[in-house]
Amino acid sequence: MTNRAEIGVIGGSGLYSLLDDAEEISVATPYGPPSDTVTLGRIGDRSVAFIPRHGREHVFPPHRIPYRANLWALRSLGVRQVLAPSAVGSLRPEIGPGALVVPDQLVDRTTSRVQTYYDAGGAVHVSFADPYCPSGRAVAVAKAQETEWNTVDGGTLVVIEGPRFSTRAESRWFSDAGWSIIGMTGHPEAVLARELALCYTSLCLVTDHDAGVEAGEGVTHEEVLAFFAANVERMRTLVSEAVEGLPLDRPCSCGDALDGLKLPFDLP
Ligand SMILES: [Zn+2]
Repeated sequence: MTNRAEIGVIGGSGLYSLLDDAEEISVATPYGPPSDTVTLGRIGDRSVAFIPRHGREHVFPPHRIPYRANLWALRSLGVRQVLAPSAVGSLRPEIGPGALVVPDQLVDRTTSRVQTYYDAGGAVHVSFADPYCPSGRAVAVAKAQETEWNTVDGGTLVVIEGPRFSTRAESRWFSDAGWSIIGMTGHPEAVLARELALCYTSLCLVTDHDAGVEAGEGVTHEEVLAFFAANVERMRTLVSEAVEGLPLDRPCSCGDALDGLKLPFDLP
């Protein structure tokens, strides 16, 4: 097998492997190594590259994940469409644990992360008004609904710096703003994908209600991991079906994100 893939999957908490009978390779990037070795394999007719976002042993907390290396590695392997499962908290009473949210908007509340490839050699301003791939979103929503998964089509993901969870006041604030779900890894992953002209689709499994939404003790890391583990098979199935459902030729404009912009280096 040549070391190429057309579709990338960045697995979140609990989803540390995806492809059986696959090949593991190390990929070097200008931004250091990715979170782990990259697994190359096939799902149906499609070639897939998988990276566990936190590393297989969950060694990288959200603010230390090598986001730039992960996306660069995928693109350098030929990937142009990325599916990104993750665990999130709900900011809305009507979105309960177990729901799948495919967000269409994002709010960045991170503080310490490098969120661009273009930090030298001139300014590159990509459009980010619609941060997610409309085509990938449509496929993911359709596949999830086919399995009768409680699916929310759209909504706003707010990404906090972490690794701590929100205070009740912060959580109420986010909820009052009308945002839907909260996580720690959706950014800068989404914008880095856009900066590489990749399609990027976020698949968010709701594991709990965030601190301010319901009374109680808030959320613990153990609760999140236990819940996510129980839902891993379900997410694995959805990712596999979405991979097979993604269009061969991208009908969206994600691939045009850099048209007309002067880049300081060539993309892989
Ligand atoms: Zn796209």
